[in-house]
Amino acid sequence: MCPDRGAVYTRIDIPVFVARTVVYAGRVAWTGVRPAWTARGVDREARGTVAARTRVRVRTAVAGAALALLLTACGSGSGDSAPFQGGGSAHSADPGAPGPAAKNGNGTTTQAAPAAVPDAAARAEKWGLKPFAVPPAAPAVKPIKANPAAPPVVKQIPTDQKVVFVTLDDGAEKDPKFLDLMRDMNIPVTMFLNDTYIKQNPDYFRQLQAMGNSIQNHTVDHPNLKTLDAAAQKREICDDSDRIATAYGTRPRLFRPPFGNYNPATLTATGQCGMGAVVLWKESMQINDMQYAEGKQLKPGDIILAHFRGPSELKGTTMTQMMVNLFRKIQDQGFTIARLDDYIG
Ligand SMILES: [Zn+2]
Repeated sequence: MCPDRGAVYTRIDIPVFVARTVVYAGRVAWTGVRPAWTARGVDREARGTVAARTRVRVRTAVAGAALALLLTACGSGSGDSAPFQGGGSAHSADPGAPGPAAKNGNGTTTQAAPAAVPDAAARAEKWGLKPFAVPPAAPAVKPIKANPAAPPVVKQIPTDQKVVFVTLDDGAEKDPKFLDLMRDMNIPVTMFLNDTYIKQNPDYFRQLQAMGNSIQNHTVDHPNLKTLDAAAQKREICDDSDRIATAYGTRPRLFRPPFGNYNPATLTATGQCGMGAVVLWKESMQINDMQYAEGKQLKPGDIILAHFRGPSELKGTTMTQMMVNLFRKIQDQGFTIARLDDYIG
């Protein structure tokens, strides 16, 4: 417990008294012997004075240190806590934000401040990345107009902004670390999922959806739609939308055909199943490198394809590491990631 000011003076009397006594004794020794000093006495005086002054300095220093320690320990404690802790719990630590209990400098037990929420830079640094720049505001008029009657096929969003769009397909791999990466990086991706993979673990994708990532249609079983008749295509497409709507509460508005393969029947079925656009891609993320459609650089509005794939398909690399590689490539080229749904509608 920290003493109040009166008690501080009571406590510091002892070291102050000691310090003053030592100083006084030193002065008396100095002045008292000086008149009688002989040449030999000077030697003694010199030795004695040095010794006396050393003792004075040492004792003064010790006393001063004790004084300083006492004042320091109580100075901050009394200044900070006396009006608060002494007055009860009104200003004590927030019980809703528990941290490790600790003894403070004045002996009372306080609740340490809760661990600070790591900022965006620290969270990105965990993955060897920088935070993504906040994307520009969503355009007031979406540059791609969804149209179920005649769904446009989109590979790239027309924009001058340095934004790209990340899409993740299928859903076979469900790497828990990827959830951590997405929480830390706080960027939107669009998932085109097959019910075949959703039903293995719907909650995995629900966690991604809860972070603000959208779930869209990629058929039930990932067939090559060009090999199916119109009715079979419609079943594959509509059933996936139904199951996504049931599992996640939102009906898909976008469709991606497996392998990017489609024909006129596919576009018809897309509209009949309630979706207004077919989304393909411009660039494709491999394990470490991007496969560019043209040149060797991203372009504004590029839609990037990646997959929920695991080490068995990535030559030992995890999906999370592949996505870190992708994010780094996007950052290195000065782009940020925007939300696809904000540009098609
Ligand atoms: Zn696919």
